[in-house]
Amino acid sequence: MSGNRIAIIGAGQSGLGAFNACREQHFDDVVVYERSDSLCGLWANRDETQREVCNTGARLLPNTTLNSSKEMSAYSDFPFPQHYPNYVHHTLMREYLLLYAERIGIKDNVKLRHELIGCQQNTDYDRTGRWRLTVRDIDNNRVFDDVVDGVIGQRVVVLGVGNSGIDMAVELTKPKHRVFSQGVVFSDDLANNIIKGLITMKSDIQEFTATGVIFEDETVETPCDTVIYGTGYQQWYPYLPDELRPELNPSLKLYKHIFYPHLKHAHTLAITFNITPAGAANPITEQQSRYFALLMVDRCRLPSEKRMLRHIRRQKAWVIRHYPRYDKHSTHVRYIKYMDELAREMGVKPRLWNYAFTDPKLWWRLYAGPCVPYQYRLD
Ligand SMILES: Cc1cc2nc3c(=O)[nH]c(=O)nc-3n(C[C@H](O)[C@H](O)[C@H](O)COP(=O)(O)OP(=O)(O)OC[C@H]3O[C@@H](n4cnc5c(N)ncnc54)[C@H](O)[C@@H]3O)c2cc1C
Repeated sequence: MSGNRIAIIGAGQSGLGAFNACREQHFDDVVVYERSDSLCGLWANRDETQREVCNTGARLLPNTTLNSSKEMSAYSDFPFPQHYPNYVHHTLMREYLLLYAERIGIKDNVKLRHELIGCQQNTDYDRTGRWRLTVRDIDNNRVFDDVVDGVIGQRVVVLGVGNSGIDMAVELTKPKHRVFSQGVVFSDDLANNIIKGLITMKSDIQEFTATGVIFEDETVETPCDTVIYGTGYQQWYPYLPDELRPELNPSLKLYKHIFYPHLKHAHTLAITFNITPAGAANPITEQQSRYFALLMVDRCRLPSEKRMLRHIRRQKAWVIRHYPRYDKHSTHVRYIKYMDELAREMGVKPRLWNYAFTDPKLWWRLYAGPCVPYQYRLD
């Protein structure tokens, strides 16, 4: 058993995975602060009041269905129930998360309606790496400090890649509306609705007029009653010291998008899902949390600051080569490469060739099949 006290901020899908990762490394003093009144974060499908408490604009629409398959979105040690469809509706995602919450026994460790409002290095940080959290107990309007050994800062607001906008567009095509949209998105219904003429793809908006909009390269106004912004989300970390807030310091880059290289005890503060993967979110945040937990129990080590910075420079060069704007795409990663990199650091990357001789069928699936998260539990 480790005597360290660990704090996890947020009981969304990332927070649940983080809790399990810490428990696996036998941390028995883990507290999860959640400012809303329920588990599951976005997937709790909160009403307007709770969304206000959470200060988040992210919302689900009645038709929201995961755009990542259930096998690609699962926790690595907890597949979705077999009878669920391959692409689950958001109500089933919530059900799955609640099943997982029960499995990992998180209930007694979650403090609902407790909001993290500050996070500073403790006075003994240089020696111990400990952090002092300031937490607001919403119901009793009480503010207290909690000194912990590591903190996982959950993302506060989800990053949008156009999915909300498209969910909204598809939702709107159910009654007799026509919708204009653009962007890179993942929705099967989108193509169908374009073919049917229910959605029209347009270029950027050049100008708003009193009764509509004028799109770029057009001179004629397109009449329009309502404009809905599906322009994405910004992550922000108001509780961190200003110098550690990625949203205030664009040049501040994190090692593997998780750790601050310049901190003396870099491994004690982990930001999860400050990243834009071309793949499911859940396995990534779970992997990041497993990495954090292993670092905290000394089962692996972060490289030196110099090597972390070199890695960050290489990552930056890759983004610049592959994307038009670094400032907009600096958190983009290749899903499989990123998962494998973390797995290698953690010593859980499956040794493919071993399976070629001992279990050729499994080897072939690992080699040629999709990168399912379960593979990082094999070795
Ligand atoms: C419409 C939509 C559809 C999506 N579809 C998919 C999909 O199909 N597949 C996929 O992989 N991803 C999808 N995503 C991304 C999705 O956000 C993530 O899968 C997931 O919700 C992220 O979980 P999380 O726990 O990191 O964040 P959240 O679910 O946002 O949970 C964060 C939790 O932290 C709490 N919190 C925040 N700040 C504090 C604080 N200061 N103190 C205490 N508690 C705090 C919040 O109340 C919240 O409960 C989608 C996102 C959106 C918006």
